[in-house]
Amino acid sequence: MPTYTYHCENCNKKFELFFYIKDYIPSPKCNFCNSKKTERSYTDDVSTIQNSIKKHDTELKTVGDLANRNRDRMSDDQKQSLYSKHNSYKATEDKVLPKGMNRIKKPPKTKWT
Ligand SMILES: [Zn+2]
Repeated sequence: MPTYTYHCENCNKKFELFFYIKDYIPSPKCNFCNSKKTERSYTDDVSTIQNSIKKHDTELKTVGDLANRNRDRMSDDQKQSLYSKHNSYKATEDKVLPKGMNRIKKPPKTKWT
């Protein structure tokens, strides 16, 4: 069921409603103040739609598109095993270095404000 975002002119709050397009209401009652001075907030809905669009294989144009498709096809277990595979090199703390060698200590991260 699609989500519709509305903005209330009376209390200036936003609220979401779920319903089928056949039940579409142009200005429903505000969830907060019951005012009927409400209108669709299209900008909010557009950003939700764009995040959920799945591209067809023939529409994949960039490596990023392909990566996103492959990620969506993966199960959580697969993602987890890939993650540990690609990050295992970081777990080198207990490896013994040859005599005379030291690990470089990373300086503390600078926080720019
Ligand atoms: Zn309101």
